[in-house]
Amino acid sequence: MSSRVFNFGPGPAMLPTAVMERAQAEFLDYNGMGVSVVELSHRSPQFMDIIDRCESLFRELSGVPDNFKIFYMHGGARMQFASIPMNLMPRVAKPKALYFETGNFAKLARIEAERYGEIIRVVDGESCGYSAIPEFDASAIDQDAAYAHLTANNTIYGTRWQEFPDTGDVPLVVDATSELLSREMDYNQFGLVYAGLQKNLGSSGVAMMVCREDLLGHAMPHTPTMLDFKVSADQRSLANTTNTFAIYLLMCVLEWLKEQGGVAAMEKINEQKSKILYDILDSSDFYSAVAHRDFRSTMNVSYHLPNNNELADKFLSEALEQGMYALKGHAVVGGIRASIYNSMPVAGVQKLADFMNEFERKNG
Ligand SMILES: *Cc1c(COP(=O)(O)O)cnc(C)c1O
Repeated sequence: MSSRVFNFGPGPAMLPTAVMERAQAEFLDYNGMGVSVVELSHRSPQFMDIIDRCESLFRELSGVPDNFKIFYMHGGARMQFASIPMNLMPRVAKPKALYFETGNFAKLARIEAERYGEIIRVVDGESCGYSAIPEFDASAIDQDAAYAHLTANNTIYGTRWQEFPDTGDVPLVVDATSELLSREMDYNQFGLVYAGLQKNLGSSGVAMMVCREDLLGHAMPHTPTMLDFKVSADQRSLANTTNTFAIYLLMCVLEWLKEQGGVAAMEKINEQKSKILYDILDSSDFYSAVAHRDFRSTMNVSYHLPNNNELADKFLSEALEQGMYALKGHAVVGGIRASIYNSMPVAGVQKLADFMNEFERKNG
């Protein structure tokens, strides 16, 4: 019997069981070749097929227009906090970019970008503890900026942009690490969407880049070759040895997502899953949600217990005993965080909900 638990970890996060069983079954002998996918040359026709299949599946699932290039970068999401200013700042005469600071990763992105040019913070959610996406004055969007950066889903606090801001001609750059393909999006609003793969799309260390063609080819002269978007886009992410296993797993995840009915179907399930938990938070005086109602994420549900730490520890250890793993909130928030990405089944969320009700009954 499997001893697997429901894994609520924020990332690396759980993968669909079907994906792992497939990867396990194919591991020794990929496609009857007698070699593993991790032993295949990244330049072999079989790996080219994998990378092509990822692209066509992603295009089909996301509906991204043809004027976007899809490629992969090393170093996960945070490496791109540096590569983005290096590649995009020189689009304008005076290096300048706008940052919507709505959470911890948004802040880290802004701090990294400050090495490369002038940064204007369009919003700063710190004063409200990042529990909401603050309002901002659209006329304050400086049209001379090279780009405007935001985090689509704030993984730690469990807030998200329900709708994306109109930044005029300034390309919108979106860190979608903790939500890519969890909801439908109109890519025409964006210049660049990127995501580390380890939350909704597979394993760690690689970022998927979905970049409007006209934004390529502007990198600063000293940009490392391996961080130049145009090099990666032109060489099909194979300028050097890419993370072949991560891209293979991505293909498996995308095929699984297609079998589930695609992004629209997944979005409905994600709404249903998160509602199960938000309904408890709303009807309880025991639990309190971190995120303001209007900005709730469907991917990460963060909440507190009364007298936070002691009860939270009890909650975590009893949850673990019952097969619910990695529910601890991020250190900057404390409390509990349930990460319920695409691969978390409704049954896992229902089990957590039942446990929460029972825990409140006993300790409330
Ligand atoms: C997890 C996360 C990151 C960090 O990803 P790494 O691949 O570890 O660099 C960045 N942004 C967001 C929104 C995240 O959720």
